[in-house]
Amino acid sequence: MSKTKERIRESNLRYKQSLGQNFLYDEGLLAELTAAAGVTKDEDVLEIGPGCGSLTKHLCDAANRVLAVELDERLIPLLHAFLDEKKNLTVVQGDVMSLNLQEVTAELKKPFAVVANIPYYITTPLIKLLLGGDLPVSRLALMVQQEVADKILAQPGEDAWGPLSILCQFLCEPRLAVKVPAEMFTPPPKVDSAFVVLPVREKPAVEVKDRDLFFRVANAAFALRRKTMVNNLCATFRVDRAKAVEWVTGAGLDEKIRGEKLTLEELASLANVIE
Ligand code: SAM
Repeated sequence: MSKTKERIRESNLRYKQSLGQNFLYDEGLLAELTAAAGVTKDEDVLEIGPGCGSLTKHLCDAANRVLAVELDERLIPLLHAFLDEKKNLTVVQGDVMSLNLQEVTAELKKPFAVVANIPYYITTPLIKLLLGGDLPVSRLALMVQQEVADKILAQPGEDAWGPLSILCQFLCEPRLAVKVPAEMFTPPPKVDSAFVVLPVREKPAVEVKDRDLFFRVANAAFALRRKTMVNNLCATFRVDRAKAVEWVTGAGLDEKIRGEKLTLEELASLANVIE
């Protein structure tokens, strides 16, 4: 058994499945993830869900400073006991989804990287929160379920292509860094995982006049699967068919095109016509 696994076992911690507690223990893998995240001494890192501190230790060694936000109060003394000698670490107890992250990260050098083996039950809202525009983030390097990685990396027309692909590819240049089988966690989750790295683009992948409208149009594209974009626009924007056809053809698209086939560029043209 690895030393890290032994340490986690010795803490007599009863894993909380409800908090997505699947810990990493393989030192080789932890080093690989830290390297893939591209963390350097010039940069500060926000870690979400440090757990027992296995990844945190590597991040502290690689980064300038690490701020780790952990919800489970039971883990705070374990983290302090394990990582007390890491003078560049700050641990904050709280729920990442409800803390004021601007305040919590005020002391970090900007922009900072977010590196985490996240709890899977908050994956999509967390990515939306981190990319929402309120935080100066240079990139996200996240462990996610394989199925979510497929969505983040999907291409237009593929089954996995959807609102999450559009959000991530509009704002970032996502890539798959490491595939991680379930047995690399303790306890093992039911699904395989993937570590994905999403460097934030200097400017979005396509030019849009109104970002909120662009995302409304992107969501509309998937409102009714296998329906035409015209039908989806009618349902979402409550306009008549003639208006929706005018928008779609005005963006240079076939009026029969299905929502899920639209590329980022086509969604942007459509949003700009509607605007
Ligand atoms: N980083 C550790 C590792 O890789 O071994 C633990 C990762 S584990 C998948 C997810 C961690 O996130 C757990 O420690 C869990 O308690 C914590 N967590 C769950 N929900 C959270 C939330 N809303 N805010 C902050 N941390 C949370």
